[in-house]
Amino acid sequence: MNPTFTLLIVDDEKQNRALLTELLQAEYRIILAKDGRQALERAREHTPDLILLDVLLPVMDGYTVIRELKNDDKTRNIPVIFITALDSAGDEERGLELGAVDYVSKPFTPAIVRVRIRNHLQSVHQRRLLEQMAMLDSLTGIPNRRRFNEVLEQEWRRCMRDNAPLSLIVVDVDHFKAFNDCYGHAAGDEVLRRIASTLQTSVRRPGDFVARYGGEEFVLLLPGIDREGAQLLAEHTRADIEAEHIPHAVSDAAPWITISLGGATLIPQESTAIADLFCLADTWLYEAKHTGRNRVAWAPTDACSASIACE
Ligand code: GH3
Ligand code: MG
Ligand code: MG
Repeated sequence: MNPTFTLLIVDDEKQNRALLTELLQAEYRIILAKDGRQALERAREHTPDLILLDVLLPVMDGYTVIRELKNDDKTRNIPVIFITALDSAGDEERGLELGAVDYVSKPFTPAIVRVRIRNHLQSVHQRRLLEQMAMLDSLTGIPNRRRFNEVLEQEWRRCMRDNAPLSLIVVDVDHFKAFNDCYGHAAGDEVLRRIASTLQTSVRRPGDFVARYGGEEFVLLLPGIDREGAQLLAEHTRADIEAEHIPHAVSDAAPWITISLGGATLIPQESTAIADLFCLADTWLYEAKHTGRNRVAWAPTDACSASIACE
């Protein structure tokens, strides 16, 4: 079991807090709260992995606390176990109805409480692994399109707030259908893995982000760098892939695997849409394709402020 899990223990009686701390501190990091309000504060501040929540509390009872927790995006998914002296079936039903994962009556058997907690944390751990996997591309192991969309939204908002430029580069492998036809799909898969790994080493500033968008297309997101800097990085990336000299005997662009890159830089504004950035980069990718491939083409600055010719 992961020893870095954090538990929030909420109980108004010092003795109970001490008992539970004693029972659990060897395995977990423990945070304590002695009333409902403090429980909410600490839950928001520390986002613990699990909460042990007493029902009878001063200020705000446990039922109110769990309702508040479930109302807040930050704390909604934290599993809650009620530990309480209320032991009627009705109380238990109410706790579970409100979204608690378990209900333990006092006095409790320490060994059983410990095992129940361990089991719930095992589920937390498995759910997180699945969530991480859902964000990764299974072929290349780099972030997938779903994750890219999330990061793009975050960076868009951050750059808008900071009045900072955001660059997007769309990368497409040249004549990749012909490569597959000539060398086979398995060899094509291997090329995509190599490209993913090269892109990740080419783009290394903290905050830069690489994802597989789909098929043989990748995206690079570069926040807080000016247009010239982003173009330079795109050019280096293009050269890095070319320098690998992965043979491609049936490409018009070169005797080896090459990529075309379309880029755009803009400072996000209320009046521009995220889709505009993608659309611009994609439009210039086609420019790179039509002017010979194995090259970078970049949206001119005025294209970014003019009404954008993307449908
Ligand atoms: P262009 O230079 O104009 O981009 O030509 P292209 O052949 O690369 O473009 P096109 O869109 O015609 O073909 C893309 C090819 O990428 C077709 C498809 O089989 C291949 N492809 C997409 N995803 C994968 C994949 O996961 N593995 C392999 N091996 N090939 C893939
Ligand atoms: Mg393509
Ligand atoms: Mg292609």
